[in-house]
This record gives sequence, C-alpha cells and structure tokens, in this order.
Amino acid sequence: MEVISLAAGSSYFRSPEAATQAAVKALHEGKTFYGPSQGTPELRKAISQKYKAEGISLEPSQVLITPGTKQALFNLFSVLLRQGDDVVVPTPAWFGFHELMKYSNGTLVPLPTKLEDGYKLTPDMLRVTLSERTRILLLTNPGNPTGRVYSKSELEALLEVTKDYPNLYVISDEIYDLVTYGSPVASILSCQGAKAARTIVVNGFSKSFAMSGWRLGFILGPDELIAKCVHFQNATVAGVSIFIQDAAQATVENRHEALPHMQEILAHNRSVMQQGLDAIPEVRYYLPDGAYYFFPDFSQYLNRTSITGEKISTSVDLCRYLRTCYNLELSPGDYFGAPGHARMSFAVETPRLQDALNRLRQGLLLLTAD
Ligand code: PMP
Repeated sequence: MEVISLAAGSSYFRSPEAATQAAVKALHEGKTFYGPSQGTPELRKAISQKYKAEGISLEPSQVLITPGTKQALFNLFSVLLRQGDDVVVPTPAWFGFHELMKYSNGTLVPLPTKLEDGYKLTPDMLRVTLSERTRILLLTNPGNPTGRVYSKSELEALLEVTKDYPNLYVISDEIYDLVTYGSPVASILSCQGAKAARTIVVNGFSKSFAMSGWRLGFILGPDELIAKCVHFQNATVAGVSIFIQDAAQATVENRHEALPHMQEILAHNRSVMQQGLDAIPEVRYYLPDGAYYFFPDFSQYLNRTSITGEKISTSVDLCRYLRTCYNLELSPGDYFGAPGHARMSFAVETPRLQDALNRLRQGLLLLTAD
C-alpha cells in the first residue's frame, strides 16, 4: 500500500507556468547578481497594485520582499520584540509560530478558541488576554489549521479593542488569502481602524500559488517599520534572488490565469473530504471557509486499542497508528495546540484523497474501546 500524506502544508499543483517562464527568461538574461535588499521595484509595484485593485492604498515603499513568509515573520519578531514582550496568538495555530518564537525574544501567549464556537474570537476574549506586555497580536486569516476566515466586521471589532494598547502591533498572516470557498478574504488592511502605523500583513506565494519551494514572501507595513525590516534583511539574508522575484511578478500579474483551476479542484476536494468525514461516526469538524485543511476532533477515538494491541491515548498515538497500519499520514493536533484533533490536507489528487478517507474510516472503526 503506497503512503498517502495528508500532513503536508503544500499542495500537489505545479507552480504557475508564468512563474517558470519568467524565471527561465531572467536566468538567460543574466539576472544572477545581488539586487536591492527590499525587493525589485517592479515586484513591489505589482504587489501594491494588486492591493490597490482591492481598494487598499499601499505604496511600493511599504512592501518588503522576503525569502518566504516564515522569514517575513522572523524578521518582524527580530525587529519588534524585546525581552519580556508577549505575542498573543489565537489557537489552534500553525506550529511554526511556536518554533520561530524559540529563536526570538518574547513569549507566545495562546488565546484558545473552540470548535464548538466555530473558532470565534470575540472582542471580549481579546480584551481579557491583551496586557501592557503584549507587543504583537498575531492573527492568521484564513486560519491554519482551522480554515476559519475572520469577516471584515469581526476584524474591525478586534481592531477596536487594540486601540487601547499604543505599543501593540497587529500582524495578520494572510498566506492563504486566495484559497477560499465563499466570499473573498478581506485583508486587515482594508478594515476601518487598521491604523497605518500599527497594522502589518505578511503573505507569500507558497499556498495560494503552489510555490513553496521558491521561497517567496512579503511584509506590508508602514514605511518606518519597513525601513527597519530592510536593515535586518540586508544584514542577514540580503534580498531574494532577482530571477525568483521576476517569477513572482509574473505570477501576480497573471494571477487570474493560474488561480481558477486550483480553486475549482480544491472546492471539489473539500466536499469529498466533508463527505468522507461525515461517513465516520462521532467525528466533529469545522467546515473550512479557506485554506485547504480539515481539523477534525477525533477524541471519541482516543483511549482505544488497535488490533495490534497498541494503546491509542493521544492524537500523536492515533497518527502513528494510521501511519504504521494504513500508510496514512495526518498531522497531530497536539502540534497546533489542540489535543485530540488532527490536521488533514485536501490539496492532494482526488482519487488519493478518496483512498485516504477510506483508510481513515477503516482505521478508526477497527479501534476497540478500552
Ligand atoms: N504562515 C502560515 C500560517 C503557514 O501555514 C506557513 C506555511 N505552512 C507559513 C506562514 C510559512 O510559509 P512560507 O512557505 O512562505 O515560509
């Protein structure tokens, strides 16, 4: 039985043809030297125009191109955080935030949201968690692993609370912004109350454009902060390769060609996974509004025993069991701050997805209660 992984954070699609062509062209043109640390003016302009088309006023000077979104976050953490600062992160959240914090000043403060509330984050919940020590509120929209999209009015209500904290920065990680199944995601920058000086977006090409290996991300923020981040980038990794930035520019400019095909397949796969999960008793989940994961609660299948006599007590045990006995890989919820859950990507080929769901059902139903 071949291994099927639903654990990865990237899709199976090929990167857009426009990207490949532009990179090859740039290489043939000899664009293989250092470029400006902030990013090429052409790419920064293309990104600012994309946001302007959505009604957001953003100048190319407010854009910093980074080698991936992870690096964009690391740059911001390095520039903004001092010893004793807190970073408030609604959970369940991507495990990468936790890992990055190990190499940054400051402490991650989880703000738990619940499946039974539809992962809602209310102004009251935020108000009781923020303190004078909070330097960053880090939102993820759409959420990984939850798939939860905050609406514009929800964001505006949260921003209203942050007004009382003059030292606070709000970072919105919008890396899945073009992977949605309902109305388009409203960037936090489009919200009333997104005070230019305090609201930052990080985004990238890995998810929406299936370009994880190109290492391309960006920061959008106020000029003064971007200037500090450019210094940090110059002193550490310098700029992203010029031919990669040409590819990114072509991707942004031709985005309406590449996106519909991927979006259509993902929307179909989402309903395949929904049906597959519905066929398994006692599994609860949030139907994702965006990104390409389900994050079901499998706790009803814990504290059971496998046919080989293995005790299944945690979602890590459950994932190990599915990997060993069914060659099926999922990501344990413990890594995202949600024990008992597991993250399942549906950004895989549809027949493999169906096969994976059958294996999951069989694997769960064969567990016996202790
Ligand atoms: N933010 C989130 C929420 C992610 O899920 C990921 C990738 N898993 C990243 C950032 C990092 O993306 P990149 O490949 O651009 O570094």
